Amino acid sequence: MPPDIVGLLTLQERDLRLQELRKELERIPKEQDLARERLATHQQAVDDAKAALQENGVAIKGVELDVGTRKESITRLKQQQFETRKNEEYQALGVKVSHYSDEIDGLETRELELMESGDQLRGTLTEAEAAYSTTKGGVDEEISILQKRADEFSREAQTLEEERQQLLVGMDESLVSIYDRLLKLRGAPVVVQITGERQCLGCHVKATPATMVRVQAGKELVNCENCGRILYPQ
Ligand SMILES: [Zn+2]
Repeated sequence: MPPDIVGLLTLQERDLRLQELRKELERIPKEQDLARERLATHQQAVDDAKAALQENGVAIKGVELDVGTRKESITRLKQQQFETRKNEEYQALGVKVSHYSDEIDGLETRELELMESGDQLRGTLTEAEAAYSTTKGGVDEEISILQKRADEFSREAQTLEEERQQLLVGMDESLVSIYDRLLKLRGAPVVVQITGERQCLGCHVKATPATMVRVQAGKELVNCENCGRILYPQ
């Protein structure tokens, strides 16, 4: 094995772990967002329940207002009845009074229905709030665990980056540049074994016997003819 391979393999060990860490660091915020979305669904349910309850309250007030105006009309009509001396007018006013009384009956039935719905809506809101707070506890914990993991991974990645910089000192620059180019293109690993059956363990394609001979001679860097990865013998 050319001595350069040993250096590259040490570098690659860091790069493999760095690659893993970067994937994790990309994945964790997405998981945190998913957890937050789970909570948002419950928040929406609470908001909807509150809005429905408020709408119900407004409807009840509206009905009460309508009852009030009809009661005022009845009082006015009865006063007019009291003041009139004409029997015909008295009868006509009486018809109006009974018309408004019927309307009040209808409105009061409507108010009772609305109040019943209000009770149901309050129940829905209580359930939605309970579900929200249960989920919030779990979501907060999950987000914080994920954050701790991300912080640990970031620290580890930073240490690896520093180690990597130190390893680069004294290494052949052109060799490192070949390695870096392959790393960018293929991702780690880029320094791979070739098996006794001449199979590249990077792309699993069989190399030519000539390539195998060059790898085994260990005098130069040999790339896989198929994937370009740097080969070393088992
Ligand atoms: Zn290959």
